[in-house]
Amino acid sequence: MRIGLFGGTFNPIHHGHLRTTREVKEHFKLDKIYLIPSALPPHKEASGVANANDRLEMTRLAVSSDPDFYVSDVELKRSGPSFTIDTVYHFKSQLPEDTELHLIMGLDAFLEIDTWKSYSNLFLLIPFIILSRPGAGYDDSHLKWKALEDYLNFRISDGYTFSSSKSCYVHGSKPPVFRIDVSPQDISSTKIRRRVQKGLPIQSLVPEKVEAFIKIKGLYL
Ligand code: ATP
Repeated sequence: MRIGLFGGTFNPIHHGHLRTTREVKEHFKLDKIYLIPSALPPHKEASGVANANDRLEMTRLAVSSDPDFYVSDVELKRSGPSFTIDTVYHFKSQLPEDTELHLIMGLDAFLEIDTWKSYSNLFLLIPFIILSRPGAGYDDSHLKWKALEDYLNFRISDGYTFSSSKSCYVHGSKPPVFRIDVSPQDISSTKIRRRVQKGLPIQSLVPEKVEAFIKIKGLYL
């Protein structure tokens, strides 16, 4: 099995998360993607973040009829802040040994990874799939991937080179880092929260059931 792990605050989950990871699934021939809402996002201000159970429920509603996705509550069951390294260890211990795990994230999140707990171990443990994201300051494709390559070499470890034949960054002693230009989705959870607060429609930005949940629960007002 080839599995993608995709974590986030999902405050709320939106089409930017879903459409891009569907493309990743197709392109990299993954069998499933695990969506993993974080309990206390260590990199985000805690205020303005909806209750973890509501974020989990919205994530479940978003993919309730989509067999491509599983939703994992592993980070919500752990006490304390959610660290990706612990989540990767969890999946490695739970899934059959021959499972090929991949860690999926947007370029904006990736370019801050050197602030994460035990980040250098992450690069030894699991291949990454980095997806493009509009508005992250790198809309020019060349500049964007140059930023990724520089970051890998200057902040993570020198020795990453791009392999055109494999279409990824390879390293002598670490798993590869793949990159993919997904169809741009100019959507963020911040944009959605702001629109809800202003009473503006969000139906093109989130799945219908998520929109209804936000309305019923009165989130982000
Ligand atoms: P916020 O606006 O609250 O910061 P967000 O929209 O960035 O939230 P997160 O839940 O923080 O959403 O993101 C989880 C992951 O999804 C991150 O790796 C992020 O880079 C990626 N991501 C979010 N939105 C998009 C998008 N529109 N296109 C590509 N990747 C995205």
